[in-house]
This record gives sequence, structure tokens and C-alpha cells, in this order.
Amino acid sequence: SDRVMLGPLVGAIDQGTSSTRFLVFNAKTAELLSHHQVEIKQKFPKEGWVEQDPKEILQSVYECMEKTCEKLSQLGIDIANIKAVGVSNQRETTVVWDKMTGDPLYNAIVWLDLRTQSTVERLINRTPGKNKNHLKHRTGLPISTYFSAVKLRWLMDNVEEVRRAISSGRAMFGTIDSWLIWSLTGGKNGGVHCTDVTNASRTMLFNINTLDWDPELCQFFDIPMKILPKVRSSSEIYGLMVSKSGSLTGVPISGCLGDQSAALVGQMCFQDGLAKNTYGTGCFLLYNTGQKPVMSEHGLLTTVAYKLGRDKPAFYALEGSVAIAGAVVCWLKDNLGIIQSAGDVEKLAALVGTSYGCYFVPAFSGLYAPYWEPSARGIICGLTQFTNRSHLAFAALEAVCFQTREILDAMNRDSGIPLAQLQVDGGMTSNKLLMQLQADILCIPVVKPSMPETTALGAAMAAGAAEGVRVWSLDPKDLTAVTCERFEPQINPEVSLQVNSLLYEILCV
Ligand code: ADP
Repeated sequence: SDRVMLGPLVGAIDQGTSSTRFLVFNAKTAELLSHHQVEIKQKFPKEGWVEQDPKEILQSVYECMEKTCEKLSQLGIDIANIKAVGVSNQRETTVVWDKMTGDPLYNAIVWLDLRTQSTVERLINRTPGKNKNHLKHRTGLPISTYFSAVKLRWLMDNVEEVRRAISSGRAMFGTIDSWLIWSLTGGKNGGVHCTDVTNASRTMLFNINTLDWDPELCQFFDIPMKILPKVRSSSEIYGLMVSKSGSLTGVPISGCLGDQSAALVGQMCFQDGLAKNTYGTGCFLLYNTGQKPVMSEHGLLTTVAYKLGRDKPAFYALEGSVAIAGAVVCWLKDNLGIIQSAGDVEKLAALVGTSYGCYFVPAFSGLYAPYWEPSARGIICGLTQFTNRSHLAFAALEAVCFQTREILDAMNRDSGIPLAQLQVDGGMTSNKLLMQLQADILCIPVVKPSMPETTALGAAMAAGAAEGVRVWSLDPKDLTAVTCERFEPQINPEVSLQVNSLLYEILCV
């Protein structure tokens, strides 16, 4: 058959909250050549609990890799050209496994999970002045249900198998990146137990100034350091894929970034002052602050943005995290049944083009930035006889935009320099109504890349640029396949401001 001549290719595993994807890019142009996606089950065993099966996640990765390789072969593309694979993953989600059997000791506790609310209260009560920001100068984070250390603490307090495995030296802790890299590089037969600085910076055990695990933080949470993975940069060869990886056996895994960092890289936000917002299950706005960590005065997180090589400096970001964005659309589908698929929400909302005074605050998992209030719950208000499902759909989309506006306002206050435009990506950005609404509510242009898989692109870039691989230049000028679509604000700023102050009143009640 005819072989397509393309030069080096790079693969990316994009392990998100709602699905797993494997994508293959042309390293010269950043063109996406093929991909495959598998949905991941979320389990809700109790109210506020969210779990996933780590084995199912791993299986979905194998399946996506194999299917993508089949598709490439059908296109006449030689799989041997895949020179490296990068990993990007849902952050904070916590797994503990047995290194002798390779089996997880409990389901993965997903970032959104709220079971640790009482653990968090107990920990905050132990700090001087009962201050949730007690560890912020080292971690960049408030003590919250969101981060891994608290989830790991819960597992140690509540799961006998985890306790036993720790005391017999068989336990390994990791976020999803660690679980996948360890498994893909051999698992119980010599897998590499590592993570990268971006994922580590979401555990609350990592000191973002020294860029290493912090003994005093581990002591605070009473977590043994021997179960932690080794922290590496986001771009270096961690190990080679073993035979279970089929067609990709022997390919180096050489990139690792938490999904939001990967999107920042994929959007080429390499300078301080550049920012992106990703609309997936939640919404995450990251603002590059350059080589120094900036502490927020307005409820934002400080996080490691990326460190693209062992000898390269770490870059930091201010982050505004919103727990529920795309998840509110899933809720309209699964809990109310007013749409058949997530995509339907656009048509339904467009039927009315206004929420008609209906407001939806989807605080299903408490409120993240800038409030950090785990006990907050959702509310729908402003209902009249006239309100129908279309208004509700519209209000749900507006809620995503309002939450982003709040984050952006906090970001502008922290940085002192208002953002001139917002680069966006993620599953929800295929919704044009949402994008236009967002531009109107922010009063700045919203800019969306034509290739929406920015998270995967970032992981592929990190993998392709790693020492020992070096098939990818990180110069944005070289990535000719990347073009953008712009949404300009169409309502006047004063109207937008009135709408927003109404929301603030509701939120502040
Ligand atoms: P994640 O990385 O968190 O798994 P994705 O970036 O894959 O998320 O986006 C999936 C989310 O986007 C889902 O929550 C889904 O409800 C939402 N979504 C997908 N398409 C649309 C759409 N056209 N309009 C609104 N929401 C959408």
C-alpha cells in the first residue's frame, strides 16, 4: 500500500474526568492525524462521593492507543514514526495501589469528591487561627477537599487494605499520571513510579518553592514519604512502554503534565501575562506568572505551570478553578432528562436566547475559586410561570460564563493588568452560543484554536521536545496547523456589568 511520508509523529494520552483519548500529531506542523476516545464511568456511591476504577482507566488507555494505531495504519501512516508519547491527566484524583500485585487498593477518589469535608474541617481546626490558608505559602493552595493529600488521608483512615499495604511496604500512591506511567512502563515488573512537578503541585505535599516533597507537609497530613512517586520535570524520558502497549512497545514516555498545564502549553502561553480557560467537566483559568510563584490576594491558587526539561526553570501560574462547568450540562441530560446529548443544550438554549431572569448557581460540589466553600450547594432562582426548559438551559450556560467572569475579575485584581483577550479550549467550546455569551459577559474577545485538542497537544509537545527525543520545536511559529476563531463582545459593557452585579447579589446572599 502507499505509505504517507510524514516524518516524526508524537502521541498523547489525554486522561480526562469524562473520557480517555489517545491522539497522534505530526511533530513538524502540530497537525492532528488520528485519535480515539473512550468514555469513563463515574461512580457516585453516596451523595458527594465520586469514584472511578483505575483498572478501567488503564484499559481505556490501551484501547485508545490500539484503535488509534489501527486508524493510522488504515491511513497508510507508519506507526514506527511515533517517536514519543506524552501523558496529560485529570489532576488531584488519587490512587493507592499494591506494587507486588499491581492492583489498586481502592477506587480512585476523583478530584470533585466531597467525602473529605470533615477531614478538612479537622485539619483546619489544627492550624493556628483555624486558617484554611495556613499551608498556602508553601503549597499555593488552601486546605480543601479538592487536593490529593486530604483524599489520601481519608484512604489511610478508612480503608484497612491501604493501611496494611503501607505498613508492609507494598503501597504506592499516585495521581492518574503516576498510575498510568507506572503501569505502562512495566507495573509490578519494574514500572517507573514518578510524577511531574505540575501534578505534584496539586497534592498539597509538594513545596512549590523548593520543587520537592516537603517533609513538614507530609508530617502535617501524617503521610509516609516512602509511598510518594519521584518528582520529575514535565519533559524528559521517564521510561519505555512495555509489550502490553502493543504497537507502541518500546516507545518512550517523555512528557507529563496535569491537564490544565498541558492546555496552557498547548495554547503556547509561554510568557507571563498569557492565559487560557479550559471548559471541560469544570472550568480552569490559568495565567502564566513567569518564573516566580505569585500568591493571590483574591482566592486564586498558585500552581506550577510547567518545567519543560530537567535543567529548565519552572514556570508558575495563578489558577482559578471552577468545579462545575460541563458537568452542569451532564446534569441537565442525566438528572433532568431535558436534553439527549450534551451538544443539544445549544439548540435548546438558542430557542429563547435569554434566561428570562432565571439564575442557576451549580455549586454541586461546594464552590471552588474564589470562595473555597465546601458546604455551598446549588440553587436555581428567578423562576416564573413562564420559565421553561430552554430558559433553564440558557441559565446553565450563563452560569459557566458568570463563574469564569468572577475568576477573571480576581485574576485582573491580582495581576493589576486586565487581560485583553481570553484563549479558550475544552469540550464545551464547540458550543458557539456559549462562546459568544462568554465574550459578551467578559467584554473581551474569546479566541478559540481551530484544533480544539489543546490539552493533548501540550502533552505531545512536552514529549516531543524532551532530551533524547527532540523531534518537536516549541517555537509557536513552526506550528502552522494552528489557526483561531474569534468571538467579539457584542453587548455593551454597562449592560454586562448590570447582569453581573445581579449575580454577585445572588451569590453573596
Ligand atoms: P474533561 O476533560 O473534563 O473530561 P471535556 O473537555 O472532554 O472534559 O468536555 C466534556 C464536557 O463538556 C462534558 O461535561 C460535557 O457535558 C460538556 N460538553 C460537551 N459538548 C458540549 C456542548 N456542545 N455544549 C455544552 N457542553 C458540552
